[in-house]
Amino acid sequence: MRESPWRIYYSIGDCPLCEGNGRVIFARSKPDSFFLVFCDECELTWTSPEQASSTREAGSLKEWAPEGVEFPTLEKLREADLEKYVEVIFRQRNQG
Ligand SMILES: [Zn+2]
Repeated sequence: MRESPWRIYYSIGDCPLCEGNGRVIFARSKPDSFFLVFCDECELTWTSPEQASSTREAGSLKEWAPEGVEFPTLEKLREADLEKYVEVIFRQRNQG
């Protein structure tokens, strides 16, 4: 079976910095797998979705996840009690 070229992203809404151009999406850092959210435009990163309404607690994606990220399924978000923060679900072609 071929892997789907589409990947599904779970977003908590717009980035406070990019003003409508960036979406803040759920990810998990590799390899330790802690949940974080980051903007798919500017890569501003927060360790909790509750902080992502302001840039105050933000860091960079490189800083929080130097070894990259993977994208959690809705099931994993549900298990972590994070599903309630999901506002937008969208899909995009898998890059690589
Ligand atoms: Zn942004």
